[in-house]
Amino acid sequence: MSDGDSAGAAVVAVVEAVAARIEAERSHLTELDSAIGDADHGGNMARGWAAAADAARDLDDPDAQTVCKTVGKTLMSEVGGASGPLFGGSLVFASAELDDGLTPESAVAFAETYLEKVQDRGDATVGDQTVVDALTPAVHTFKKSIETDDLPPLEALAKAVDAAERGVAFTVPIRAKKGRASYLGWRSVGHQDPGATSVLYILEEVLAVAAEQMDAAVPDVDATSPTIPDDADSEDEA
Ligand code: ADP
Ligand code: MG
Repeated sequence: MSDGDSAGAAVVAVVEAVAARIEAERSHLTELDSAIGDADHGGNMARGWAAAADAARDLDDPDAQTVCKTVGKTLMSEVGGASGPLFGGSLVFASAELDDGLTPESAVAFAETYLEKVQDRGDATVGDQTVVDALTPAVHTFKKSIETDDLPPLEALAKAVDAAERGVAFTVPIRAKKGRASYLGWRSVGHQDPGATSVLYILEEVLAVAAEQMDAAVPDVDATSPTIPDDADSEDEA
């Protein structure tokens, strides 16, 4: 019970941090969207996350699932454009994975369901210059780090953020195939996707707040470096 409560409070802190970060990056996100879209992404996201932070703060001693569901619903109703159902609707859906609380395992299930729903809703795949390009490497890296490499959650999160950063960079030299940017055809090449950039900012705040909550420093990681299991006798290598 108290575990669920402290996880709920931590998720509220994440939502507040995301709202502040998105507000700080509002004009940058709008600038990115003005190059290949309709210059509303910063405003859409800032309005949605500010309302989500208000709604999360108003909850009475919530658990993690309730916070995620509330934030998702608020984003759906407050964020216009393509991003509302993508960011918000998928969050409502993925929150079902937190039925038994927030653990490394339920966080992986949550992340996977979130990605699945974003892909279902937007019908985008990796390489279409969308949020999917940042989310996919982040979610896959997080899952592998937890389930295969057995890394501590904070390190797994840091690797996911590093992977998302590479995903954002990957959106620049490719052509948009979904959303407004796709109307530009080849002229979308050379531009960083605003939605993928938002995904990165959100994940960076999740990591920062998680580190803060654990009273730990943000681990310095490289998502592409191989992980040496604890029990491996690496000194034997010739
Ligand atoms: P709109 O495109 O309706 O103006 P926003 O500007 O708020 O909405 O969001 C644009 C972002 O939404 C894009 O940068 C892209 O990442 C994401 N996006 C748009 N369409 C899709 C889609 N079909 N699948 C996944 N992401 C998408
Ligand atoms: Mg737009």
